[in-house]
Amino acid sequence: AAATTPRRLSPAGAGSPSQRDARWGDTSSYGARKKHRVFCQLPNGDWALCTVITTSGDDSVLKLPEGKVLRLKTESLEAANPEILDGVDDLMQLSYLSEPSVLYNLQYRYSQDLIYTKAGPVLVAVNPFKKVPLYGNEYIDAYRNKTKDSPHVYAIADSALREMKRDEVNQSIIISGESGAGKTETAKIAMQYLASLGGGGGIEYEILQTNPILEAFGNAKTLRNDNSSRFIDFLTFTDNLPLWFTVWPVLLEKSRVVQCAVGERSYHIFYQLCAGATASLRDKLNLKKADEYKYLKQSCCYSIAGVDDAQMFRTVTEAMNIVHISKEDQDNVFTMVSAVLWLGDVSFAVIDNENHVEIVVDEAAETVARLLGCSIEDLNLALSKRHMKVNNENIVQKLTLSQAIDTRDALAKSLYASLFEWLVEQINKSLSVGKRRTGRSISILDIYGFESFDRNSFEQFCINYANERLQQHFNRHLFKLEQEEYVEDGIDWAKVEFEDNQNCLNLFEKKPLGLLSLLDEESTFPNATDLTFANKLKQHLNNNSCFRGERGKAFAVRHYAGEVAYDTSGFLEKNRDLLHMDSIQLLAKCKSSLPQMFASKMLSQSDNPLPVPYRSSAADSQKLSVAMKFKGQLFQLMQRLESTTPHFIRCIKPNNLQLPAIYEQGLVLQQLKCCGVLEVVRISRSGYPTRMTHQKFARRYGFLLLEDVASQDPLSVSVAILHQFNILPEMYQVGYTKLFFRTGQLLLFSQLTLIH
Ligand code: ATP
Ligand code: MG
Repeated sequence: AAATTPRRLSPAGAGSPSQRDARWGDTSSYGARKKHRVFCQLPNGDWALCTVITTSGDDSVLKLPEGKVLRLKTESLEAANPEILDGVDDLMQLSYLSEPSVLYNLQYRYSQDLIYTKAGPVLVAVNPFKKVPLYGNEYIDAYRNKTKDSPHVYAIADSALREMKRDEVNQSIIISGESGAGKTETAKIAMQYLASLGGGGGIEYEILQTNPILEAFGNAKTLRNDNSSRFIDFLTFTDNLPLWFTVWPVLLEKSRVVQCAVGERSYHIFYQLCAGATASLRDKLNLKKADEYKYLKQSCCYSIAGVDDAQMFRTVTEAMNIVHISKEDQDNVFTMVSAVLWLGDVSFAVIDNENHVEIVVDEAAETVARLLGCSIEDLNLALSKRHMKVNNENIVQKLTLSQAIDTRDALAKSLYASLFEWLVEQINKSLSVGKRRTGRSISILDIYGFESFDRNSFEQFCINYANERLQQHFNRHLFKLEQEEYVEDGIDWAKVEFEDNQNCLNLFEKKPLGLLSLLDEESTFPNATDLTFANKLKQHLNNNSCFRGERGKAFAVRHYAGEVAYDTSGFLEKNRDLLHMDSIQLLAKCKSSLPQMFASKMLSQSDNPLPVPYRSSAADSQKLSVAMKFKGQLFQLMQRLESTTPHFIRCIKPNNLQLPAIYEQGLVLQQLKCCGVLEVVRISRSGYPTRMTHQKFARRYGFLLLEDVASQDPLSVSVAILHQFNILPEMYQVGYTKLFFRTGQLLLFSQLTLIH
């Protein structure tokens, strides 16, 4: 089993002294000698590169880059790499692999717009927050022809392609990082490269045009990112030409449709439609301005700096044309978008002293009914009454004001989520017309990044759980499996420790006493409240080292990327996500084509209640909860990833202001640490990334031997070859079944083969 270390509870900032690793000579004297370059820590915690002027006793006098002189304890200094190593393109090349050296190297490159750096097998991408001249056909060709080999997303996509062909194994490009770190942009850059193999015929253009559509319907402005993905995007390209391409979206954050935090926005398409619709469409859909809709008004934020929603609307409709979504379908789509907006404006009037309600027949109700294609009576029925079966008898329950509002919002959310799913289906159909799915594939995974706000709710809970799972995948491949292979094959290996997040995953997934199970259990009790849920968590999980009960309805989880406090308000409701049968039946009765389609899909989905009319609400709760559905989809995704060779890209957000040229060391360091980038480099540097079985090696290179070895076993032949060419013992290890080589060693043999 892999070694684990206890989790570091608080993400350490730049302030903590870096760990020195004896294996790497990081402890060797940094020689605070005259003119030597060292790193010193400034009062704000940042590390600065400076030169030693003199050393006396325990102190050193240093000169900072801007000329300032200061005196510090010699032991507080960190060795710096020689100038020749400034800005190396793989962190593996650094002699001193300390935190300040790594930070400095990334910053040095960043300041020259070299945003990509390798960390052994992982590509690190630091978000430039501006256009950088690194993309386009010229670059694509250069990477394809191997005339360029500096770290790049194109290079990752290219090796995925090559390995897919060479090994006949499916590949994946897994992009991770916090919200706003640049995952979606990186995914698009990888898509550019893969789509360019489309072999002409315009398919590459069509594939890329899916992006504005998916972003319009699945992205929104959050406090962290103006264009934040609110779903998991899993794109697949197959190797047969023309390309076959699909999107497999996982769980859109649908609560955003009816509610979002102040300063955030709902999905872009709402604002785009309001700003950009033509006069005739505006008329047809009875559109108002974005700031006149209740759903959009609550967050007091309507625009995004530097973004023209009207222009974006034209971009989106143009993209829909290009991916062959018919004009009629486009109209249907926008009709639904408008219906969702108007639903938010549907209001209720109390009709008796028990707070029962009916809908107010006004412009909102009339517009919704017209857009969906139903009668006002039907709409009223669905939103103000509930049919139930109690003791085999059909009864009709009148809804109170708050029940009616919840019912209305549930309808709006599911309409939008169904619309998103349907749209993705159309895109998939359109781009795979007449093409069979054969051969191997490359998938790109772009998920919603880790989020931590002042107030975190059910949505962050799900998103961060997904990120925790993905981190586990990263750990498994880069730390566990790698080191297990060394140990299994019996080679001499000192384990590199890494932060295992298994405990945190257990906290979520353990049955029956994990966060997800407890949430589900509580969601089935009709009388449970968010407070009883919070208390239940505290009662059962307080001893868990990744859990901390907080006051009232709150609890905190120690995630790999830092501690997040969650407020349980609304957890049960959001997890139950009840869409009552009356609402589904309303959609089924509608004359417009999309609502009908949505209803039949809802009814046919296995996790939805059976299509028996007048079920009781209790029966509805048999439906899978949101958390369970989420977990199920996440597991499916992980399963698909497990059968691929992964290529990892880590996106780093250098500042929280979304501005170029600002590199905050503390922020960068925290991100590097929580995903174990330094440890990955350590393993790669001390590890043996290339390996070959004795048989294969002997078969391939045996002919190079001067003596006759025909009768010898593969192990002896292999060792004889290594000896004959005087390969230094530290450059390889002989395992029970394989030879393990340091980077580049095998290349030497390939060259020798050429010479012969
Ligand atoms: P989330 O998890 O919230 O979806 P994300 O990691 O997908 O976040 P992006 O939306 O890809 O983040 O990036 C945020 C912003 O950073 C982009 O809108 C863009 O302005 C900028 N950005 C990211 N990568 C690049 C790049 N390579 N070149 C230029 N700008 C970039
Ligand atoms: Mg994104």
